[in-house]
Amino acid sequence: MVLVVLILLPAVIYLIFETARLNESEEMIREVYRQQLDAVLFSVNQYIEDYTGSWRNRVNISLGVGETDLHGILSGLNGVQALVIWDMDMHIIEEASVSGDMSRIHKGVTDSLQQIKIKIRQLISYQKAGYQKIQPLLINRNDSGELLLLFIINEYLGRPVVAGLVIPIRSFIENVIGTKLNELAGDRFNLGVFYLPTRQPVLAGQQLQYEQARQTKGIWLLPDYLIGIKLAASDIEDLARERFYRDITIIGMLFFLFLLGAWLIFRNVRREILLAQMKSDFVSNVSHELRTPLSLIRMYTETLELGRVTSEEKRMHYYTIISQETDRLTRLINNILNFSRIESGKKTYKPENIDLNRLVEQVIDTYRGQIEREQFQVNIDLADHLEMIYADPGAVTEALINLLDNAIKYSAERKEISIHTYECTNGICLEISDRGIGIGEEHLKHIFDKFYRVPTGAVHNTKGSGLGLSLVRHIIEAHGGTINVTSQPGQGSTFSLVLPKSKKTV
Ligand code: ADP
Repeated sequence: MVLVVLILLPAVIYLIFETARLNESEEMIREVYRQQLDAVLFSVNQYIEDYTGSWRNRVNISLGVGETDLHGILSGLNGVQALVIWDMDMHIIEEASVSGDMSRIHKGVTDSLQQIKIKIRQLISYQKAGYQKIQPLLINRNDSGELLLLFIINEYLGRPVVAGLVIPIRSFIENVIGTKLNELAGDRFNLGVFYLPTRQPVLAGQQLQYEQARQTKGIWLLPDYLIGIKLAASDIEDLARERFYRDITIIGMLFFLFLLGAWLIFRNVRREILLAQMKSDFVSNVSHELRTPLSLIRMYTETLELGRVTSEEKRMHYYTIISQETDRLTRLINNILNFSRIESGKKTYKPENIDLNRLVEQVIDTYRGQIEREQFQVNIDLADHLEMIYADPGAVTEALINLLDNAIKYSAERKEISIHTYECTNGICLEISDRGIGIGEEHLKHIFDKFYRVPTGAVHNTKGSGLGLSLVRHIIEAHGGTINVTSQPGQGSTFSLVLPKSKKTV
């Protein structure tokens, strides 16, 4: 866990720091981008003001020099529908319209008279402050609507007057604003005009929708209308979002890798600890395994040496025990030596054609004394005319001894062992079953591992080194065979071997 924290903590801190820094720079870029869009929108408003300003100047100049032909003036103001001149009390002095029909304009002016008066008062106060301003007002709004641009002319025929330019909103947006937007947009921006109350796009063929616009700005001279803008190609917001998701994925993957690494380290360390534990158990088990037969041998030889054993029968019994314990020692030492040869890769096998049945009989013979003494019932069922196997007889004998030894060791109550050989699909099969203590499901997959001993239950009454089955598996697999086990705790175990038939090389 310390390792996990040591690796993960700096990584997490670094990632948080990096993400925060990226966010900061992203915020800066976003701000720059906002300002850029704002500047574009500002320039549109500026343009509209310049454009209408030029209309006002023309009217100003023409009326200032006493020009009274309003039609003539109108013809120079492209896009303007009508021109009306009022005195300061809102009495019409003169008027002219391109179509010649003033009734619609009169109606609009009458409807908005109060607002017009307010606008004029504002114009007067601006003028007093030294500003020549234009005041916009939308009239006939229920209809297609006109924009009325009001401004003061200081002197017309000897007195100050109010001039009003009437411009159809639609054509103003299309011709004046639309043209400018097209010019600005190029292939860098998407621009559009929206009617504020409905948020509907106004320009014909306009692609940009209100919701897509990254920035909007009211049109100074056209109340209720907005201009919206976004970058034409992938927007900075999209780029930021894309990058955010990419970063999150990378961070996620890094985390996953870190966790995986930490888990692997943890697993390896745990395995090492378990192995170390097993080795230490092994040393204590082996010491015990060595001590028990040695002390028995010593005890019986000493007794024999003293010459106190008078009965021949007893003496024979002592000899048998000494010989048995020597066998046990030899087996243990053989196992340890073989294990060490296998571990160092020096173990070699000398295969030849052998009769498995004969090997089984030999092994049983070796154990006959012990079997009889411990009153085991051994059922031997060997197939007739069994084909030969191609194997190292010494190694296979060792495997069989280990299996039989286990069957005897781990059968405390029901002392019954069965050995069965037969021909099976993949070669020659051998099964050795006991009715002993059995092996729990959770241990089955480990019992062939080196040093492994079932850690709980009745096994502890029986000493062992934990090497036997790992040797058996190594021997069988080195001969191209397989070994399997089925077992029920309390019911017994069956070890099944398959060995390849003769003429197979190892
Ligand atoms: P050991 O020297 O401990 O017998 P093995 O490698 O031969 O070592 O066996 C590993 C473990 O498998 C044993 O400790 C025991 O728990 C279990 N085992 C092996 N054979 C049998 C069996 N016939 N019945 C029950 N348990 C067995």
